[in-house]
Amino acid sequence: MSGDHSRGRSQDDLGSRLARRVFVPFYEKRWGLHVPEIASALDQSQYWTAERIRQTQFTAVKDLLTGAFEGNAFYRSRMEAVGVLPRELQSWEDFERLPLLTKEDLRGDPSDLITRGYRSSEMFYKRTGGSTGVPVKLYWDRDAHRFKRAVVKRHDAWAGYVLGRKQAALWGDTEKSYPLKERVYKALCERTIYLDTLLMDEAHLADFVERVRRFGPRCLIGHAHSLFFFTEYVLSCGADDISFDSIISTAETLSAEERALIEGRFGAVVFDRYGCEELSLVASECEAHEGLHLSAEGLYVELIDAEGRVRHWWDDDAAADEPARIVVTDLTNRGMPFVRYEVGDLGKWARGECRCGRGLPRLERVFGRVTDILFAPDGRKISGVSILDTFIIHVPGVRQAQIVQDRLDHLVLRVVADAHFDDDSRGRLDQSVREIFGGEMRYDLDLVDRIEPTPRGKYQFTICELEGVD
Ligand SMILES: [Zn+2]
Repeated sequence: MSGDHSRGRSQDDLGSRLARRVFVPFYEKRWGLHVPEIASALDQSQYWTAERIRQTQFTAVKDLLTGAFEGNAFYRSRMEAVGVLPRELQSWEDFERLPLLTKEDLRGDPSDLITRGYRSSEMFYKRTGGSTGVPVKLYWDRDAHRFKRAVVKRHDAWAGYVLGRKQAALWGDTEKSYPLKERVYKALCERTIYLDTLLMDEAHLADFVERVRRFGPRCLIGHAHSLFFFTEYVLSCGADDISFDSIISTAETLSAEERALIEGRFGAVVFDRYGCEELSLVASECEAHEGLHLSAEGLYVELIDAEGRVRHWWDDDAAADEPARIVVTDLTNRGMPFVRYEVGDLGKWARGECRCGRGLPRLERVFGRVTDILFAPDGRKISGVSILDTFIIHVPGVRQAQIVQDRLDHLVLRVVADAHFDDDSRGRLDQSVREIFGGEMRYDLDLVDRIEPTPRGKYQFTICELEGVD
């Protein structure tokens, strides 16, 4: 019942078997992340009925709120302000009286949101530019970290991928030098070859195709736009021998046009995935490719429409046409609870049940992060997603940012700054432009009060206004 593909068995070379049986368990035990019982529980619960999943979610929400009320001053005051007492929680309507958690709430010191009894030094720390370009710092407690890792593995298995098998990845910033220990782990367990999406020029693409030929990975993972560009390249260079059993698209929204081109070349092997750094994997496609199943055992997802009405995943009329705001409660992270967190993306519920037989609710579509590919003056293509963190979380004082390319050798950096934005911030922006785009690139820094959303109401991190390019 793992959802694994039978054709995937041919991918189990010696290195893969050693990774699965020896190296991955070794590292996971060392990191305290080896919990095979979570994996087997998740294999079972994906086939629970919708009713059972809903009841389990309600119990988990109640437990989460009870813990937060007792040990978390931030949430206790929120609950008291609206008169929600967890022990008396009777219905989802009671729960929905709680205010949404916004990125603004997370801008301060993240330790203010840590529950009593948890220590930040023992938790997993993350920084992210999120999907709305607002920098966020957060922690996962140990149990949450374990659970999320197990969830990712389950959804990888739906796409026929198991950690330890050979993989090809289109990803940003992969050239940085890792310490020896990490290089050993990557070589033994991850076994991934990368195309750096900051370096998508002809020479790097050709080299990557050659490495794919020699290495022979059956799974490809990458940002949607990068997968699209890679496919265009494979088509243009006539590399007819390159194929994959699965292609996992993640980190940004995959458009219908991009999907059509990729599937036209590689077949119906695209597994779309939706997640964010704050919560990890939220939903992904199964082998039926009919919408994205939520990881509903660990996350409770609501959609909130333009009138502020909550659309529950079990409502008969939930699959309305208009996309609605995605709001998520993390059922596992008690150390730093996320209760009714507004991710900043939009989604629609899928109708009916999935052919695969899993009871996990599905999103039909997600309208998530939007970025354009940008260009270096030397013609190199640069994935917008890959540079988001460089410009947002690594520059002090940036509340939100957007990069607009209006000429091949000119950018406008729009920044909403706070009081910490200073000469050091300007220096880092300047350095980042030079490192990523090269010394030929000119730019203007435009300090603005706010960044306007796209006509669809979405924030767009990078915008390419060059004529005659995709
Ligand atoms: Zn399914």
